[in-house]
Formats: sequence, C-alpha cells, structure tokens
Amino acid sequence: MKSPNPCSLIPVPYIIEIFSSIQGEGKYVGCRQIFIRLADCNLNCAYCDTDYRCADYCKVETAAGSMTFRKMKNPLTVEQVAEIVYNLLEVPTQALSITGGEPLIHWQFIRELSEAVRRFGLKILLETNGTLYDELSKVLDAVDIISMDIKLPSVVGKDLFELHRRFLEVSRGKEVYVKIVVTGDTTLEEFLSAVRLVASIDRGIMLIIQPVTPCRGVKAISTERLLKLQGEALREVRDVRVIPQTHKLIGAL
Ligand code: SF4
Repeated sequence: MKSPNPCSLIPVPYIIEIFSSIQGEGKYVGCRQIFIRLADCNLNCAYCDTDYRCADYCKVETAAGSMTFRKMKNPLTVEQVAEIVYNLLEVPTQALSITGGEPLIHWQFIRELSEAVRRFGLKILLETNGTLYDELSKVLDAVDIISMDIKLPSVVGKDLFELHRRFLEVSRGKEVYVKIVVTGDTTLEEFLSAVRLVASIDRGIMLIIQPVTPCRGVKAISTERLLKLQGEALREVRDVRVIPQTHKLIGAL
C-alpha cells in the first residue's frame, strides 16, 4: 500500500519559505508582494521546479528583500506567520501571495491566516493549480485575488479540464485570472480547449500565456508559436497576454 503523504496528516501546514520580492508572473507582475510557500501538491507537472516537500525547518527572510534567511522549526502557528508577515511589511507591499505546492490543500490555514493578516491592510492573492474547487469554496471570502493555472494534458499527463471548469465556476464573482504554461510540446488542440473553457465562463477573464522556463528536459516554445497561440486565444477571450517568468530574469526569488 502506498504510504500516506506526511504533509496531509498534519493540522498546521509545513511552510517552505516566507519572503518579500516582486511578483514574477501573471497579472500583477512586478508588484511587491510577500510570499508564503506551503508544502505539498496534488499534481506532478513535467516542468515543476519547486521543491514543495515537507521539511523540518522553513526559511524566513530576515529583512524584506535581503534574500538572507534564518531557519525556523516547522510547523509554525498562524500567529508566528502573521508576525513574520508584519515584520516584512517594512516595505510597502501590494499583496500577500499564498503559494505552493498547492496551497488549497491547507484551506483551513488559509482562512485563519487571512483573518490574521487582513488587519494589516494586505490583499490576499491565492496562487493555485486550479483543481481543488471544493476547497476553494471554503476560502472564497478569505481571498481577494485568485491566480489559477489551467494545466494542459501534455504537462500533467491527464485531462484536468473538468476540474478546472468547476474551479472557475466557483471563482465567479471574485477577481480571477488564468495562466497557461506552454511548452514546445503544447498542441493547438489542447491549448484551444483550455481557452474555450475560460471563454465559456467569461470572455472577460484575463488569460496569461506563460512560456515555460525550460527545466527537467521540458522543451522551450518558439516566439513564433507563442504569437500564434496568442492570436488564436484572442478570438475567444478579450485580454490575452504573453508573460514569461520575469523574476528569473533578474535572479529574484
Ligand atoms: S501544480 Fe505547481 S507545485 Fe504542483 S507540481 Fe505543478 S508546477 Fe509543481
């Protein structure tokens, strides 16, 4: 029998890292944010470059943007995390980005943390792979912005479109934008299935095409191909942008 995932058995999520940096992807690219990366994920994407495994210690930035860290023993309490966030607010910050892994695995923690840090005037941005729609419904009032991915079959090895459709249905009425990571192996057919899924919910949802940063043998996509995909998407959805992972260009976290 497969052994249980240790992250899923703990009441308080293990944290990988907490730091202040620029948002490198999506609609709010370039904005100053505080990031909390939670452990564990329910997917295994071909291009994943994030170490989201549980660890005994997490990394906490010592001063906003310093890129120097101290280690703290996991799991942290909500109060400890809120205090760390407060200290990183020495730099005016647009939002608290809760990321992973897949943060919605820890939806109870998201609710409690949101309550604790909203009093600092921070918006809560949820960065999610867009599959755990039931969990999303439990935190909907605790988040302000939803950045969701649509994962293509060529990336995850299975068709997740129905989960993504339900997730977008639950997101109705919230600020939501969609990212699709495309690679050299992305087919027009799967890409258009994703675009039409978004259009079927709301043609006004912003769609970000994110060219993969090649890793683990995943092939890059050509600029010509990217422009072709954008052109096709613009026939279905009004606002389609091509944005690569910008933080990696400048060596930011
Ligand atoms: S959903 Fe994100 S964290 Fe999870 S495997 Fe895919 S890229 Fe990695």
